Amino acid sequence: MEALQEVQTIVYQFGNKTADGNSKMKNLLGGKGANLAEMSAIGVPVPPGFTITTEVCTEYNRLGKDATIKMLEEDVAMSITNIESIMDAKFGDSENPLLISVRSGARVSMPGMMDTVLNLGLNDEVVQGLVDKTNNERFAWDSYRRFIQMYGGVVLGMKPESKDDIDPFEEIMEHLKEKRDIQLDTQFTVQDLKDLVYDFKDIVKKRTGHDFPTDPWEQLWGAVMAVFDSWNGDRAIYYRTMNGYPADWGTAVNVQAMVYGNMGENSGTGVCFTRDAGTGENVFNGEYLIDAQGEDVVAGVRTPQQVTKLGSERWAKLAKIEEADRLENYPSLEELMPSIYEELKQYQDVLEKHYRDMQDMEFTIQEGKLWILQTRNGKRTGAAMVKIAMDLLKEGLIDEQECLLRIEPNKLDELLHPIFDPRALKMANVIAQGLPASPGAATGQIVFFADEARMYKNTILTRIETSPEDLEGMNLAKGILTARGGMTSHAAVVARGMGKCCISGAGALKIDYKKRVLTVDGKEYHQGDWISLNGSTGNIIEGKVATMEPELSGEFAQIMTLTDRYATMEVRANADTPKDAKIARSFGANGIGLTRTEHMFFEIDRIRAMREMILADTVKGRKHALQELLPMQRSDFEAIFEVMEGLPVTVRLLDPPLHEFVPHQLATQKELAEDMHISLAAVKNKVAELEEFNPMLGHRGCRLGNTYPEITEMQTRAIIEAALNLKEKGITTKPEIMVPLVGTSNEFIEQEKVIRETANKVFKERNDSIEYLVGTMIEIPRAALMASEIAKRADFFSFGTNDLTQMAFGYSRDDASKFLPVYIEKGILKVDPFEVLDQEGVGQLIQMGTERGRDTKPDLKVGICGEHGGEPSSVEFCHNTAMNYVSCSPFRVPIARLASAQAAVRAAR
Ligand code: ADP
Ligand code: MG
Ligand code: MG
Repeated sequence: MEALQEVQTIVYQFGNKTADGNSKMKNLLGGKGANLAEMSAIGVPVPPGFTITTEVCTEYNRLGKDATIKMLEEDVAMSITNIESIMDAKFGDSENPLLISVRSGARVSMPGMMDTVLNLGLNDEVVQGLVDKTNNERFAWDSYRRFIQMYGGVVLGMKPESKDDIDPFEEIMEHLKEKRDIQLDTQFTVQDLKDLVYDFKDIVKKRTGHDFPTDPWEQLWGAVMAVFDSWNGDRAIYYRTMNGYPADWGTAVNVQAMVYGNMGENSGTGVCFTRDAGTGENVFNGEYLIDAQGEDVVAGVRTPQQVTKLGSERWAKLAKIEEADRLENYPSLEELMPSIYEELKQYQDVLEKHYRDMQDMEFTIQEGKLWILQTRNGKRTGAAMVKIAMDLLKEGLIDEQECLLRIEPNKLDELLHPIFDPRALKMANVIAQGLPASPGAATGQIVFFADEARMYKNTILTRIETSPEDLEGMNLAKGILTARGGMTSHAAVVARGMGKCCISGAGALKIDYKKRVLTVDGKEYHQGDWISLNGSTGNIIEGKVATMEPELSGEFAQIMTLTDRYATMEVRANADTPKDAKIARSFGANGIGLTRTEHMFFEIDRIRAMREMILADTVKGRKHALQELLPMQRSDFEAIFEVMEGLPVTVRLLDPPLHEFVPHQLATQKELAEDMHISLAAVKNKVAELEEFNPMLGHRGCRLGNTYPEITEMQTRAIIEAALNLKEKGITTKPEIMVPLVGTSNEFIEQEKVIRETANKVFKERNDSIEYLVGTMIEIPRAALMASEIAKRADFFSFGTNDLTQMAFGYSRDDASKFLPVYIEKGILKVDPFEVLDQEGVGQLIQMGTERGRDTKPDLKVGICGEHGGEPSSVEFCHNTAMNYVSCSPFRVPIARLASAQAAVRAAR
């Protein structure tokens, strides 16, 4: 313990326009402490104080209370003396008392997750001193009752334990308000406040068995330790886990001289933003309260007023308040205290320029003097994030690289999907929560079966889980809700691909398909009942919630243009339909990295021919069915190639196990038997025959093409004929034919032969030709190992990281939900490897595959087409592996473009 104290400074002072620390020291001083130091150093008026480092918090968890106090004692005493001399007052003195606040502050802001105590240092004697010193009895006793209340809650643990529990102090206050027939805290008389202090101390004694501590030093240590403890409180742990912040970061503790916003009519407190956090508009705005302290504004004890005149006028309009009434009862700070307002406005300007970002600030006015208590980069919506970054660039505060780095790629998602009207959301009744599998907002009527998805205009497809057979229904529904499955469940993957709102794995849902009833918490919802899904939070809401179409701003387009200036790696899209291809192109995709041909077969008129093909027992029978499929595939490819004119389109040959295409329900099996003029038993037999123990490792991918080459032939013909047809119309196409699931080079060579032969045949027939590539997916670990061999023949590699992850880990994607959540909870895995590429392990296979492939063929084109292609950290990995492109679902194209540009900027730095 001595060691820490000897080698490192454990307490940093600030105040009086100087500071030991600065804003770069967030890891050590926490965000709040680092910025208090910085503000003090640049001359912004902050009350003097000191910061105990986050390292002490970590030590405290090891050493315990007594040893920590011993370690800190000397430095803290010295620092208090420093504050005393600046403030010309004395801590614990009953004639000229100094009060302090003890504030938490981790390296990242964790709003409301940890604790703060204000007005510390008061007892029965000191309060008298405060009365005499300020000549303000009301203020002194108000501060005292606030102190006991906060200290009781934070340090003595007298907080409500559950949602139904009432805060014991609030209860006493409510009682008194009722008795006195008043509504507001400010209406308490001095005698009321004295009574409250008496009653508060009484309840403390009753609840804790001890008197409320009167010794200011005991109070101080109690508060410091409580702040340390709050780092390991339930709220903080939950928030940390959610955001992936490690437990060993710890929190700093800031001890600071109190300034008082509760000294009467010329005092107050507030919060302000240098720009609009919702829209990004460059307008200064904020809220304040007269005669109040800290938390009153955020906690909504009273309705706060607006800082600016403009804001106040806007607010009054919404609240339908007449101008005269507004001016008299709800004046802005600008109107009420013009000189304070001017000063505040100046500081917000100084701070924004200094930090070169939108600031969220806390301020307090004590008897006509302004103090700034906190500043930080403000949280903002996706829309505001984009606008602010672009505006700062235009204003010359940041450069292009910095502007790109200011955009959080994943937050762009918010901008691309329909959104709920935030005002409507405030009144929403949330009935359950699931995984936010695909962002967006959806309102619709419940249906339980995919084929009933068009029953109403807007439907929410509500399923225990979904299967590929539900695809069409999913496409028709406004949103998808499943009781089972994770973020990589079929429903989730497909929904993200569609840009469709989806909540998966909502365990609280009980679904009875037979009765068509959804039960949540004992309440029943029937088919046709309205529900709403917030795909961004996972909230399931009863009834309708108004939505709005997002509008893509000019700034959004500008950011995208900027990405092209810096990105070296291209972004393609995974698109199976012309509609998806159009979206991808509109988002600036450089091509299509994956067209899955099987999805085309699920449509009603095609699935029949497909099933016929599967059920055929002979090559002849199969060829006959394939003949029916050929024109359909050809027209599909034509449509997609046309949309993607001039850009490459990678088409993957048939991949999934055949049993996914055959009907599993008796009624459909009967229909099929009738259609094909065979017996029901024959259909049933074939279905049973196709059943596999582990279909993911079964008869699929190029194993299909190698056992049934006529399928590869048909698909190749469809692709080449489509391209030739377009060529006649003067449209350039760049097809890239991709063989899936190759594990040995012979598997590829055999398929390549079929493809080239078929293509040549078509060229001859048509007396024309086009350029095309033949490549392979690398998604089986062995393929990565044998990459130099495979590259001899393949024109390109595309890493299928979904399968590669699955096989490298030996986790079946479909069954992983049984243990993955536990693994993540226990920390056995940090993140779901199906969501975030496992760079350490699977990444080695990718690196090795790329290197070995390029050893053989230096200009080998390499890309990735798994779900990871749209995940920012995985995109950065791909950039660093020198890939040519990533490919992701259309709605993630802008995210990947940004991530690609950011990776290039970071690598260059
Ligand atoms: P949080 O991180 O939850 O915002 P803070 O430590 O910032 O907690 O404090 C809560 C409130 O108390 C804020 O409004 C802050 O401005 C106010 N406050 C903190 N310290 C002081 C102080 N020394 N004087 C006056 N108000 C303070
Ligand atoms: Mg704060
Ligand atoms: Mg695959």
